[in-house]
Amino acid sequence: MLDFLKSERPKRLRIVQNGHPALRQKSSPVKEVTAEVRRLAERMLVTMQENDVVGVGLAAPQVGVNLRLIVVDTRPDEDSLPAEPPSPGEVCLNPRMPLALVNPEITWVSPETACCGEGCLSLPGVRGEVTRPARVRLHATTLDGEAIDADCGGLLARCLQHEIDHLDGVLFIDRTPDEQQKAAATLLKRMEKFELKQLAQR
Ligand code: ZN
Repeated sequence: MLDFLKSERPKRLRIVQNGHPALRQKSSPVKEVTAEVRRLAERMLVTMQENDVVGVGLAAPQVGVNLRLIVVDTRPDEDSLPAEPPSPGEVCLNPRMPLALVNPEITWVSPETACCGEGCLSLPGVRGEVTRPARVRLHATTLDGEAIDADCGGLLARCLQHEIDHLDGVLFIDRTPDEQQKAAATLLKRMEKFELKQLAQR
């Protein structure tokens, strides 16, 4: 359980959009979970929750910090029936969500793939179809230093791959078909202009 659930609610952070340099950099590993890192994770969580229409995950670069830290919450809605039985990773991790993962890595991917529509809090209004491995093995640690190794499928597998891509400077739009990238080009350009203006004003 994250500390803020017991105490004062941390302030949300600004989500940076396409065009911000943090989204295109490779992030550095978290060397130690300091109070600062913990606070960042708590603020990322609040930021994700306050955008909960589309937010099932958030990566540190999306709040302008190039550290290998993500937060996820892929618990299914109570009234939605799962298409398939949950994977071992979902069974084990969903009850612990929302969850912050430190230095998350994909250590195995299934040969089977799945195609699904994706969006991103850093690309508001943009959607695209992305084909990814249907199942992955996750290795990560929690904020308390507990190691997690889990075989994940479903929405969790997709979310982990999307968020870990952010840590490597990859956006989902990079993985969509050319015509979908073209269709989003105007919107992406507008975001880029906005971000560059924000940076210039600092
Ligand atoms: Zn994203």
